[in-house]
Amino acid sequence: MEIAVDERGYYGEFGGAFIPEMLYPNVEELKRRYLSIMEEPDFQRRFRQLLRDYVGRPSPLYLAERLSNHYGATIYLKREDLNHTGAHKINNTIGQILLAQKLGKTRIIAETGAGQHGVATATVCALMGLQCIVYMGAVDIQRQAPNVARMRMLGAEVRPATSGSQTLKDATNEAIRDWINHPEETHYIIGSVVGPHPYPDMVARFQSVISEEMKWQLLEHTGNSDPDLVIACVGGGSNAAGAFYHYLNTPAVRLVAVEAAGKGIHSGHSAATSVLGTKGVIHGSRTLLMQTDDGQIIEPYSISAGLDYPGIGPMHAHLIKTGRAEAVSITDDEALNAAFSLTRTEGIIPALETAHALAALDKLSFKKTDIMVVCLSGRGDKDLAAYIEYLDSHGL
Ligand SMILES: *Cc1c(COP(=O)(O)O)cnc(C)c1O
Repeated sequence: MEIAVDERGYYGEFGGAFIPEMLYPNVEELKRRYLSIMEEPDFQRRFRQLLRDYVGRPSPLYLAERLSNHYGATIYLKREDLNHTGAHKINNTIGQILLAQKLGKTRIIAETGAGQHGVATATVCALMGLQCIVYMGAVDIQRQAPNVARMRMLGAEVRPATSGSQTLKDATNEAIRDWINHPEETHYIIGSVVGPHPYPDMVARFQSVISEEMKWQLLEHTGNSDPDLVIACVGGGSNAAGAFYHYLNTPAVRLVAVEAAGKGIHSGHSAATSVLGTKGVIHGSRTLLMQTDDGQIIEPYSISAGLDYPGIGPMHAHLIKTGRAEAVSITDDEALNAAFSLTRTEGIIPALETAHALAALDKLSFKKTDIMVVCLSGRGDKDLAAYIEYLDSHGL
C-alpha cells in the first residue's frame, strides 16, 4: 500500500487536525491552498533560488571513508550541517515564509526548543522584512543563551513560556494561544512534521529536497539512486521525513528512525516515544505520545533539546507501527560518544541530535556491501557546553 497522507491528513490511523474552533479559518485556508501555492511556478522558482543562493544547496553527499572503514560498510553523510544557520530547519522556514507571503500574512510566530527553529524563523523574517515573535520555554531561554542572542540580533522578539516544565511543549502551547488571538494577520511557522494537517505534509514536502538530492547524488557516486539504509534522528521528525520522503514507497530501502532514550528508555528520563508512547492527541494531531493512563503528558527528557519532545510526527508513528521504519533508541552517553567518534574520524562536529543518528550505527545489523546514508541534520556549535563537559569529565 502506498505511503502518503490522505485528504483528511491521515497516515493510516495517525494525523488529522484537532484544533480549537477559533483556528478553523486559518487551518482551513492553509489546507485549501498549500498544495496549489507550492505548485505555482513563481513559488517554485523563488523557493529553489533561495535554497541554492541563500541556504547553499545542494548540500554535499560526503563519502565518510574512515567512518566506513570503522563499520565495514559504505557510509555517506548528507551534510545538512553546512546549510545557512547550521541545520536542515532553514529548508522549511524558507518554504513557509514564501507561503505566508502568498497568504498575505504580515506577522510570523514560531515555537522553539533549543532555538534552532527560532533562529531559522527569525532569519527568514529578517530576509523578508516581516515581524517575528518566537515563543521559547523560560528554562530553554536560560540553557540556550547564544541562540536567544541570535534571534534578538535578527530583530525577533523572544517571549518566554513560563507554564509547565517551561520547555518546548509549553512554548508550543503559547504559540497556539497567540495564533488564536491574532488569526487574521498571523502565520504560525511550525518547525517539524507535527501539528494539525496540513503541517506534517507541508513540512515534509519542504524538507523532501533532502532525499531529492540524495537520489541524484547517490546515482552519481554509486550508479544507483537507492541506498540500502537511510538513518536519521527524530525529534518531531522533519529531517527524517525529508531524508525518507522519496524512498517511502521503495521497500528495499531500510528506513531507520533514531530517537532519544535520555538516561535509559525506562529510567523515567527519556524521550523514546515509539517505545513509551501510546495513541493520543497532542498539538493538533493524533499520534504516539508519552502520557499517563489518564492522559497527562509525561515530561520528556534528552540531553539534546531538539529531541526533547513528548510526541512524534504522525507520519513516523505510522511508519513505525506498520513496520516500514525501524526505530532505534539512543542514550545521552551513547550520543556523546558518537559525537566524539565522528569528530575524531572525520573532523566534523555534529549537533547532539545528529549524534543520536550516528550512534545507531553501533546498534544496527547490516552487510559489508550495504550503502548507508546518515542525515547529518546539524552542526555542533550550539552544543559546545555539553561537549566541553564531556572533555573535562573524560580527561580528554
Ligand atoms: C531540531 C533539530 C532536530 C530535530 O528535529 P526534527 O524535526 O526531528 O528533524 C534534529 N537535528 C537538528 C540539528 C535540529 O536542529
